Amino acid sequence: MRLISRLTLVTGGGSGIGRAVSQRLASEGASVVVADISEDSANETVGRLQSDLKGQSHMAAAVDVSSKESVKKLLTRIQTRYFQPPSVCVNSAGITQDDFLLNMEEEKFDRVIQVNLKGSFLVTQAVAQALVACGSPKGSIITLGSIVGKVGNLGQANYAASKAGVEGLTRTAAKELSRFGIRCNCVLPGFITTPMTDEVPEKVLVKMKSLVPLGRMGDPAEVADVCAFLASDDSRYITGTSIEVTGGLFMG
Ligand code: NAP
Repeated sequence: MRLISRLTLVTGGGSGIGRAVSQRLASEGASVVVADISEDSANETVGRLQSDLKGQSHMAAAVDVSSKESVKKLLTRIQTRYFQPPSVCVNSAGITQDDFLLNMEEEKFDRVIQVNLKGSFLVTQAVAQALVACGSPKGSIITLGSIVGKVGNLGQANYAASKAGVEGLTRTAAKELSRFGIRCNCVLPGFITTPMTDEVPEKVLVKMKSLVPLGRMGDPAEVADVCAFLASDDSRYITGTSIEVTGGLFMG
C-alpha cells in the first residue's frame, strides 16, 4: 500500500509487462491510467484492476506514444478527469521488428526507434512538463530499457539501439529533472514471458534459458515488483540508475 492516492500512468498497459505493472500499482493503492495503442486491450487491463479503496479510480485510454499530438491529447484527457498530472509514469510501450543488419529495411529501423525511443521521450517530456507546470512536481518516471541495449542481440540492431538510447534519455532526464523532485530510472528486463517474446523462435528461447543463471525466463510480475519499488518512496534516494531484472543473464 505504498501508492495510496497516487495517480499513475502506464503506457503499453494493455499487454505483458505494462499490464502486470498496472495491476501491481493498483494493488498498492494507486489510481492507474492504462494507455495503449489498442483501447480494447487497455480496457481489458482496467477490468482486471483492484479498485476497492476510497478515491481509487482507473481509466483506459488509446495513445500512440510515437505521436506528439496523441501524447498531448492523453495528458489533456488525464488532467481533465483527475485535475492533476500523473506523479508516476511507467513507459512500457514498445515493439520489436527483427531482422539481421545486412537485410534490415530502413522502415523497420525507423519504426522501432520511433516507438521505443521517441515514444519514451515524448511521454517523459509531456509528463515532466505537466508536473512542473502544476507547481508541486515531485514524481517518479520509469522507462523500460532492455539488457539487449547493453550487450546487443542478433537480429535486433534497431531494438538494441532504441533501448541503449532509452537509458541515455533516462539518465539525462534524471539530471535535468532532479531539481524539481522528479526521479527518473530505467528497468532493464532480460527475457520475460510476454506476447513480445512469444514471437521468439523456441530454439532461441531454449538457448537463452540455458544462459540464465537462475535457469528460467522471468515473469512480468517480477518486473512489475521493481517498477513499484521505483515508483514508491522506498526508492526516494535513487535516480538516474538502471536496474537489471534478468535472472543474472549477462551479469558483470
Ligand atoms: P508487449 O506484451 O508486446 O506489450 C507492449 C504493449 O505496447 C502492447 O500492448 C503494444 O500494443 C503496445 N504498443 C506498441 N506500440 C505502441 C504505441 N505506438 N503506442 C502505445 N502502445 C504501443 O511487450 P512486453 O514484453 O510487455 O514489453 C514491455 C516493454 O518491456 C517494452 O518496452 C519492451 O521493449 C520491454 N522489454 C521486454 C522484454 C521481454 O522479454 N518481454 C525484455 C526487455 C525489455 P500491440 O501489442 O498492439 O503492439
